[in-house]
Amino acid sequence: MDTVVASFGSTESTALVEAVPAAIGDDIHALVRDLFPICRSLAGDGLRESLQVLRRRIDLTVHEVPTGTQVFDWVIPKEWKIRDAYIRNAAGERVVDFRVNNLHVMNYSVPVRANMDLAALRGHIFTLPDQPDVIPYRKSYFEEGWGFCMAHRALMALPDGRYDVVIDSSHDDGSLSYGEYLHRGDSESEVLLSSHICHPSLANDNCSGPALLAILAAQLAQRRTRYSYRFLWAPGTLGAIAWLARNQARVDRIRHGLVVACVGDGGGPTYKRSRRGDALVDRAAAHVLRHAAATSSVLPFSPVGYDERQYGSPGFNLPVGLFQRSLFGTFPEYHTSADDLDFVRPEHLASSYRMICGILDVLEQDHRPVSLVRHGEPMLSRHGLFARATQGGAGAPSNLTLLWTLNLADGTHSLLDIAERADLSFAAIASAARSLRDHGLLAPVATERDLPDAEASRS
Ligand code: ZN
Repeated sequence: MDTVVASFGSTESTALVEAVPAAIGDDIHALVRDLFPICRSLAGDGLRESLQVLRRRIDLTVHEVPTGTQVFDWVIPKEWKIRDAYIRNAAGERVVDFRVNNLHVMNYSVPVRANMDLAALRGHIFTLPDQPDVIPYRKSYFEEGWGFCMAHRALMALPDGRYDVVIDSSHDDGSLSYGEYLHRGDSESEVLLSSHICHPSLANDNCSGPALLAILAAQLAQRRTRYSYRFLWAPGTLGAIAWLARNQARVDRIRHGLVVACVGDGGGPTYKRSRRGDALVDRAAAHVLRHAAATSSVLPFSPVGYDERQYGSPGFNLPVGLFQRSLFGTFPEYHTSADDLDFVRPEHLASSYRMICGILDVLEQDHRPVSLVRHGEPMLSRHGLFARATQGGAGAPSNLTLLWTLNLADGTHSLLDIAERADLSFAAIASAARSLRDHGLLAPVATERDLPDAEASRS
């Protein structure tokens, strides 16, 4: 393992979360709006076009994995091309129209051109009787079939009779696309930030995650960081598996990671732990979420969800957790046409962004400080600190944060340990430690052993 901290003292002195622009929520929402109309799938032009939209914000590299390539137990599928799809009544009116909403066609449907009565057609129509006004999202990647999705109320209103049914689609050899961006930090050790990008017009799941990560990558690109940051935008499951298959020899650089999905609604926040359960990213996320919102919840790892399943498959067991607002599958808008541009709000995107930055700040800044005054408390006023603290100037650390940090700065406690023991936020403790170091009361951070994850090894 390379030395992560050789230049730790010279990385950015402000927290990432303090540098978040005020308009961040509007900025991410604008990108969500650009992504929303595109008809994405597992592989094909919609996915490619989406990566180009992200590319306007961050100079990501698009990788193409040819159809038929074996990636572990899977094979890269054909691209799906969809040109048109509709159900047309005897009067020639389109009663279901892909051009109105791309959720109307079951994603990855095989082509069909037929005339049939409503009874036969019903076997290919999916609705949600409990939510009669929304269109469900259905896909059939690995089972050949075709179908339409529509509001249950609209189906009930269809009169008996014969209908023209057309899905003008094809499955062609091509490639599966994914986007990747590496921000180089002082160390080659990496933080992986990954989002799936394969759903059609659904805003929270799944335009919000890719949009947030593109903006975050652009912000990190302007900073000097301790870790390198690898961003991935890849179709769910197969994209992550393809990336892992192509980068198997390099994955031991990944020291921490987050999958980011459904970050634009007002629920949660929710964090699902990595398979390891007690990785630093798990502790960091649990800490930041607890201090950010009383409604936060931290869940144990499970092999259902998003691509944390692939990063956490036993052959990799990478410390990668899942950050969300509402947990997938639990909100009524999930995988329906109600997951639209009104459902994701700039203020929720902004608070998600800040929480993720808060987690990254822990990874960037955590270390085991060593106090240079070990016998008795230092006289803070003599060092110009006590007065600052009690006057409570903007950004000045409180007396309490200084005392906790000094007391536990014995080289065995990390800043996160101190924050948890003191029941104070990591940001407050990190700020106190910075101030103490500036005033010569803490030793400079210089050696690998100062890092709490220095001895972290993959088990
Ligand atoms: Zn989904």
